[in-house]
Amino acid sequence: MTECPKCGLVKTVKNGCHLGRQRHRCKDCGFQFTRATPKGRPASEKATAVLLYTLGFH
Ligand SMILES: [Zn+2]
Repeated sequence: MTECPKCGLVKTVKNGCHLGRQRHRCKDCGFQFTRATPKGRPASEKATAVLLYTLGFH
């Protein structure tokens, strides 16, 4: 599931491709994006990334 970077809801649908990347559209606010920006990422995902980095998975 992809989280909408604008409203944070996970109500996104695939909306074709743009510049070779999967494009998504939020069903709630209509915002279109190709990938969730680092800013819009949930804290849990960031914590996991940090943990993996710490463990040497990079
Ligand atoms: Zn949205």
